[in-house]
Amino acid sequence: VFDKAIAEFRRVLDDKHVCVDTASLEPYGWCTIPIERRISAVLRPDSVEQIVEIVQIANVHQVSLYPISTGRNWGYGTARPVRNDNVIVDLGRMNRIIEVRRDLAYAVVEPGVTQGQLYAYLQEQKIALSLNPTGAGPNCSILGNALERGFGIGPNGDHFQAQCGMEVVLANGEVLRTGFGHYAGAKATYLYKWGLGPYLDGIFTQSNFGIVTKIGVWLMPTPEAFEACYITCNSEHQLGPLIEGVRKLIASNTFQGPMNLLHRNRALIMLDRYPWDAMANRTPLNETLVADLASQKKIGIWNGVGAICGSASQVRAARQTIRETLRGKTDRITFLSERKLQILRQFPRTSGVLLNMNIAELLKTLEGSYGMLKGVPSQMALPLAYWRNRASPSLQSEINPAKDRCGLMWFAPVIPMTAEDVTAFRKIIEPIFREYRFEVCITLTAINARCFDATVPLLYDRSDPEEIRRAQTCYDTLVRACRLDGYIPYRLGIQSMQEEITNQDVFWRVVQKLKSALDPNGILAPGRYAP
Ligand SMILES: Cc1cc2nc3c(=O)[nH]c(=O)nc-3n(C[C@H](O)[C@H](O)[C@H](O)COP(=O)(O)OP(=O)(O)OC[C@H]3O[C@@H](n4cnc5c(N)ncnc54)[C@H](O)[C@@H]3O)c2cc1C
Repeated sequence: VFDKAIAEFRRVLDDKHVCVDTASLEPYGWCTIPIERRISAVLRPDSVEQIVEIVQIANVHQVSLYPISTGRNWGYGTARPVRNDNVIVDLGRMNRIIEVRRDLAYAVVEPGVTQGQLYAYLQEQKIALSLNPTGAGPNCSILGNALERGFGIGPNGDHFQAQCGMEVVLANGEVLRTGFGHYAGAKATYLYKWGLGPYLDGIFTQSNFGIVTKIGVWLMPTPEAFEACYITCNSEHQLGPLIEGVRKLIASNTFQGPMNLLHRNRALIMLDRYPWDAMANRTPLNETLVADLASQKKIGIWNGVGAICGSASQVRAARQTIRETLRGKTDRITFLSERKLQILRQFPRTSGVLLNMNIAELLKTLEGSYGMLKGVPSQMALPLAYWRNRASPSLQSEINPAKDRCGLMWFAPVIPMTAEDVTAFRKIIEPIFREYRFEVCITLTAINARCFDATVPLLYDRSDPEEIRRAQTCYDTLVRACRLDGYIPYRLGIQSMQEEITNQDVFWRVVQKLKSALDPNGILAPGRYAP
């Protein structure tokens, strides 16, 4: 049956875009999660029409299709399907930027359009709009991330919030346009999220109900003034008051979009590697050494970063509000503008030292984080995946943690934005990380004025089978312990979807009914956030 399906796929696509040989399938198996999946084939369509035909063939031959956009879902499964024997539908060739409206500040993109590509396009065309990138680097898909409900920091940082209008190939081969998109000549498809009648976009995110072929994304018009705000706290006691302050600053829109609070360990892993020698191969990192490394790099115990922008007077007012709201709650607040960066660039690179830091190193860090807030995709966060990797990143222009066999699983629960909840959450996870001998590297992203999306990477050494087993048990223990106390992940890795879906829960029963109605043969991404 499978051979017949492949023969039919070859009728729709050129031979070179129907891959079954081991060498072509290999990159799709690279993964940072220690879980193997058999992949049957890879299809690389270039149009909606081809996807419609693929779906029809899959129904006839009962083939499971697993759509990916750029397949860099690092820490959540990369490109690997949830179950075995799927045919991956790689939408990377569909990388057209369909439209950019300068006045109404949106873009319409296909699945393969990357953050780097849209950024370059806006620059080349001198369009005064910017996107909000994630930390996953220039080669990740804008659409893929929105479907995962991922986020960045700064303006439009909640990517599903900034998505408007969708085109979806359904499992029966029909093409659905959401919002106003299904009305011929509708003028506000990419401007008004809700359309008329039931709002459907949500059911195509974190699900397996369709293959999304196009979305609208809201962009930010370049503001008159833009500054990054960096906050440093050197004492754990400051975290509670800092949280209260941040809540007010987000609620009053002083910060534009989400902002991050990074624990010392989290900042450190982006800048350093696990000191295997100094630790004589023992884990986890001891407190004295971690404090030493952090102080060399001027990292506080908690470190905030967010964007303020608007007119020059709005930015001035925001600076003042931040200083007043956080007075007595932090050790340092620094604002960085393009002008200050220029001054820093003029310091002599070779001998220069500022804030006790090598200027070249300081500039690299600041330019990376300032640029990301302003919409320039960067690889600066990717080295964190290599923390416990004993091998060096392969020397190529793209840092690819999955190819380099990094061990990373993201644990990402949502925490109410109160000091009590953050303390309770830490009291659950910190002993678990310690017991299994991993570092606790928390980032709290204030995604709105009410809650944090916590992202805690579980970083392990993939060359050590014993450590792999420990990491898996640690991850499962974290998810279960936090669920018991009401802290549920905003997103899951493919290793834990099965456990989440249960017949005992009305919610998952409704999801199951939707799945049966939209995909009765179960051909689309079986097991992905749904049966
Ligand atoms: C160091 C580091 C930093 C990171 N920082 C961030 C961050 O700041 N924010 C963040 O959100 N993530 C982050 N990530 C996680 C992840 O790498 C990104 O979310 C990345 O954007 C997801 O991969 P992708 O864009 O290639 O999407 P894909 O892998 O293509 O898509 C993700 C999933 O969505 C589904 N899907 C994709 N396309 C379609 C489609 N067209 N139709 C139907 N279903 C589809 C598939 O199931 C797929 O597995 C980070 C990872 C690392 C290692």
